[in-house]
Amino acid sequence: MEIRLAKSAGFCFGVERAVNTVYELLKDESNHPVYTYGPIVHNREVVGDLERRGVRVLNTPEEIRGIEKGTIVIRAHGVSEEISRLISARPGVKCVDATCPFVQRIHRTVREESLKGRNIIIIGNAGHPEVVGTKGWSVREAAVIETAEEAQNCPLDVNEPVCIVAQTTFRATKFEDLVARLQEKGYNAICMNTICNATQERQTEAGEIASKADVMIVIGDPASSNSAKLYEICRRVCERTYFIQRAEDLNLQLTGTEALIGITAGASTPKNIIEEVRSHVGSGNEF
Ligand code: SF4
Repeated sequence: MEIRLAKSAGFCFGVERAVNTVYELLKDESNHPVYTYGPIVHNREVVGDLERRGVRVLNTPEEIRGIEKGTIVIRAHGVSEEISRLISARPGVKCVDATCPFVQRIHRTVREESLKGRNIIIIGNAGHPEVVGTKGWSVREAAVIETAEEAQNCPLDVNEPVCIVAQTTFRATKFEDLVARLQEKGYNAICMNTICNATQERQTEAGEIASKADVMIVIGDPASSNSAKLYEICRRVCERTYFIQRAEDLNLQLTGTEALIGITAGASTPKNIIEEVRSHVGSGNEF
């Protein structure tokens, strides 16, 4: 039986950079107390470890206003211009911006294109923090579209020019379909496919492995949208796909005839958890 771990499994560049930033800041007492605006990564293990080291998660603008010293870290997802200004303006508080450079590029595009007079359409999930942040960089109207129905009912004026961007973790094929639907409606649109390569590569590789695997394991937090999407992609081609958060969750029922077990993990899954799952599967342990 072969166990194949996807090369693209686990932290992407942006998340790794943001998590490392927090650990680095903790090394220097002068940065303390350290806060993150929202959990630094959608992973309870990592957030729990940081909590034990004294990192507190802020969730609202009011909580930011209550901070008088220390460091507030903006996570890889980024924040709206308003939140960014609010943190930077706090006297006695250092703002460390760990927004992923790919997300920063979307913020710049949204800001520039809206300043030029284009309304903004973000293809993504309206409740996702990255999308909430991106929307907050538009100086004009912005709409978030996630489904064909929403594309059909897009509230933006079809006679005004629009700029379409994507949530970095959105599925490419669905993005293309929604863009086509919006264009059919007659929008004069410039379209930026801002889906991150890390996501595309992870999704493609997961699909390829799952299509050959007898059993596929996707490791990730259910709150992480890219992990849930990986599961969806794998489940479509491999019926025996498991979605777990860590090794203990795995209730692997092997028949002994399996030739290939595939493993992948979402962008917010740390290496140690991936290794733990791989070694448990390899050792044939039951959970
Ligand atoms: Fe950055 Fe891509 Fe990771 Fe998002 S998925 S944080 S854009 S590297």
